[in-house]
Amino acid sequence: MNHVDNVIETDGALILGAGIAGLFTALKLAPFPALVLAGSRPGTSGSSAWAQGGIAAAVGEGDDWRNHAADTIAAGAGLCDPAIVDLVAREAPDRIADLVAMGTPFDRDANGALALGREAAHSRPRIVHVTGDRAGAEISRTLAAQALTTPSIEIMEGFHAVELAMEDGRAVGLFARHGTGADARLVLFKARAVIFATGGLGALYAVTTNPLEARGEGLGMAARAGALIADPEFVQFHPTAIEIGRDPAPLATEALRGEGATLINTKGERFMPAAHGDAELAPRDVVARAIHRQIASGQGVFLDCRQAIGANFAAHFPTVYAACRSAGIDPVLQPIPVAPAAHYHMGGIASDASGRSSLPGLWVAGECAATGLHGANRLASNSLLEGLVFGARVAEDVKSTVSAGTAQGQPPAPLAFALPAPPHVLRTAMNRHVGLERNAEGLGEALAAIARLEQTSGGEPALLNMLAAARLVTAAALLRVESRGGHWRSDFPLTQKISTRTFMTLADAAQVEGIAQRQARP
Ligand SMILES: Cc1cc2nc3c(=O)[nH]c(=O)nc-3n(C[C@H](O)[C@H](O)[C@H](O)COP(=O)(O)OP(=O)(O)OC[C@H]3O[C@@H](n4cnc5c(N)ncnc54)[C@H](O)[C@@H]3O)c2cc1C
Repeated sequence: MNHVDNVIETDGALILGAGIAGLFTALKLAPFPALVLAGSRPGTSGSSAWAQGGIAAAVGEGDDWRNHAADTIAAGAGLCDPAIVDLVAREAPDRIADLVAMGTPFDRDANGALALGREAAHSRPRIVHVTGDRAGAEISRTLAAQALTTPSIEIMEGFHAVELAMEDGRAVGLFARHGTGADARLVLFKARAVIFATGGLGALYAVTTNPLEARGEGLGMAARAGALIADPEFVQFHPTAIEIGRDPAPLATEALRGEGATLINTKGERFMPAAHGDAELAPRDVVARAIHRQIASGQGVFLDCRQAIGANFAAHFPTVYAACRSAGIDPVLQPIPVAPAAHYHMGGIASDASGRSSLPGLWVAGECAATGLHGANRLASNSLLEGLVFGARVAEDVKSTVSAGTAQGQPPAPLAFALPAPPHVLRTAMNRHVGLERNAEGLGEALAAIARLEQTSGGEPALLNMLAAARLVTAAALLRVESRGGHWRSDFPLTQKISTRTFMTLADAAQVEGIAQRQARP
């Protein structure tokens, strides 16, 4: 990149992202030095601070990591990596113990044991939570407080990373911007190890539960540097975003259905019992598509919490309650209008059991990584867990393979900046054509829209990162000529007997446009 205003040599690891994965990795690295770069304030940054339900772990009496692993594999629709699932389920209780030791105020039962909630597709109550639906906010706050008082961790917010710095095929740092307009500056941060904890890509969709920062930029940066990307076609749509015309859409946590809330249509009829044996607790993709079809047939869809939760709503689910009340809905007395929204990316930067990407020097943790845990569909509350388990594993690997150096250069004081918004036309195309129901014609249209945006991008790196992420999701969706987990093709509705995970580079994805034209032909 041109016009570098400042070069900063860090003495240890450079972590991009201050959500749960980034902060936990930094804490597990200590006393190995870590510089954490983030767009927004640690403790409130990324999707992490918005998580509601909690974290899955087999910590309850009578539960066992093998049950957790079996539920994860069943939800993953044939594409989980069983070795990764086992190690995550096995290490989960230790990572919860870490959070308890750091001071996370998890809810407790009358005996003082961790209180456990139940969520869709879990065979038993297994979700640790905080004040009902405030898990993400409280865990993020706890980790940020710990990180800010750990001497080996330096946190710099207000930097927008736009490109990986590569030398001889190895990731050696990041180019990041700060400031806006005439004040904008470009800084090169160099490091012994670069760790991406950049979150997901929901904001590339017009209807999403994710914050605007979740725009797939980490995925795009890694892909543009040549990294292997895994399972990009698998995007999870949350069935019950609250339909009150907000961007992003507030979430009505799955735990509400775990407590017995039901889904009804405008006629007041439940439709989930006819769609799946587990009714409202069916896997997310099944529930989301059932809602999508009700809406497509002209029905409104509502989450009815009146009987199951009733007067306990404000105390047990304060975040959802506040969102409803802000739109004039009283969930104690009224069903909540809901619709599916882009929520979680199962795919990401391909990584191994130590969080290593295919690019030497680049490790990944959290939602931006594709470890093989989720397969084609994530089991509820397994994502915060994945960030913790792989944050710890990345830290172990970096500490044992990289030696700390000497810091050089004075980092500039961060300046305020505004993230460039993902283009409206991209978000609309992704929602319409790369959403809950896909087909060759629509996917081809989305690829064409991405190509047009690229031609007029003027080489703006942030936009190129977002377009790279969108192209990977769309191209892989086109190549997967079956329906499985979070990926539904209306022109290929069957699930093939044998299937494998997707691994592709950005160059592979760029070659897919010809296939789009062939598949779209009658
Ligand atoms: C509303 C909601 C509810 C959820 N509920 C649950 C739940 O109950 N349980 C569960 O397990 N999961 C839940 N999830 C999913 C879970 O919250 C996320 O998968 C997880 O928090 C991702 O953590 P992360 O650390 O990988 O990324 P994030 O928390 O998203 O953090 C990403 C970080 O990267 C930074 N960043 C990204 N790009 C750049 C850039 N270019 N330059 C600088 N900084 C950058 C961001 O600023 C941010 O600091 C929920 C998600 C949402 C949106």
